[in-house]
Amino acid sequence: MANLPYNLKQIALFFQRLPGIGQKTANRLALYLLRLPQQDLQEIAGYLAQVKTKTKMCQICYNITENDVCEICANPQRNQSLITVIEDSLDILSFETANIYQGVYHVLHGRIDPLNHISPEDIFIDKLLKRVKQNGKEIKEIILATNPDMEGEATAMYIKNKLQLIKEQNYFIFKITRLGYGLPIGANLEYTDYMTLKKSIDSRIEY
Ligand SMILES: [Zn+2]
Repeated sequence: MANLPYNLKQIALFFQRLPGIGQKTANRLALYLLRLPQQDLQEIAGYLAQVKTKTKMCQICYNITENDVCEICANPQRNQSLITVIEDSLDILSFETANIYQGVYHVLHGRIDPLNHISPEDIFIDKLLKRVKQNGKEIKEIILATNPDMEGEATAMYIKNKLQLIKEQNYFIFKITRLGYGLPIGANLEYTDYMTLKKSIDSRIEY
């Protein structure tokens, strides 16, 4: 496979840059593209060309979207007084696919991780605090749903302390909760089955 034709080689090298894809898999995937209809390839090439320019962040929750405000924030059926704080947009997919939650979200785009030089200023905590300061009166509950591993716990603790302060300063009465039992320590929400996720949201505890 050392002599893949130029275009295939470039595609294989690109696939190799994706997470979890080694050289062999990259070559196999690139070759597989040859079996697809030309029209499909053109279609996907179009999406690829536009994905970066068209995708932006929701002005309210910082979920990825192609509009100024994402579908969830814009949906009048969603309970705006319930905010679940998650590490990244993929976690929203877990909740939404499981269909267990009617509130809205706030996406942090990461977690506090000193070993990898990610501090609170590097993720979207400030945006959350600003949102809570502005709308605190309407908020009934904030669920801290960062992953139950070391960095996720540290991030939840940091946010909890900040929120507590805002609560006291502004006489807000919202509850701060954390996902309850069901989630194994070290779990990743993205890979959690929906029953476990449902159990953990039903049994969330005051934090
Ligand atoms: Zn949104």
